[in-house]
Amino acid sequence: MDEAEERTIHYYCIPPYRWQQLRYDLVTRRDCEWEPLPEAALAQVQLLQQVRPSGKASCDFYRIQLNDPSILIAAHRENLGPDLYPFLVYILTHEMVHLVRLSTILRDDREIRLSPAEEESRVYNVAHRILSRAPDRQMAPILSKFCLANPPDLPASGQFSPASASAFSHR
Ligand SMILES: [Zn+2]
Repeated sequence: MDEAEERTIHYYCIPPYRWQQLRYDLVTRRDCEWEPLPEAALAQVQLLQQVRPSGKASCDFYRIQLNDPSILIAAHRENLGPDLYPFLVYILTHEMVHLVRLSTILRDDREIRLSPAEEESRVYNVAHRILSRAPDRQMAPILSKFCLANPPDLPASGQFSPASASAFSHR
């Protein structure tokens, strides 16, 4: 999570005070808040509205949820080996980009909302740029398997579709 955060903050040049305003948590299957996701989804980011105790001001609260079973299945299918760290950095970076775009960039421009497919494609490209900036030996195979092979809407048959890297409920 730290690496995905740092890479995203660096890419968007987000000042620390702005980042601290961003409220989110991360849940995995072990957490009681975890809910089953579609099998094709590796993770999702969800906007949960949270009202401050004063009742006057509300702040947005986001939840990133990992779909542990699908992550393990995809890792096994793609022979990623026992070390899932780079794969998780990839997934979390993708979700972080969703989060940043939902929270700040798109907030002021609701009228030019992208369709879910366009937004997914945009996020997919940004996440790729973020992760390609300082590619390490471990990240390279992840990028080639999940991030470069196909545009999100044109998955090659038999290959994991990057479009399903996250199902996200933008509520
Ligand atoms: Zn996504």
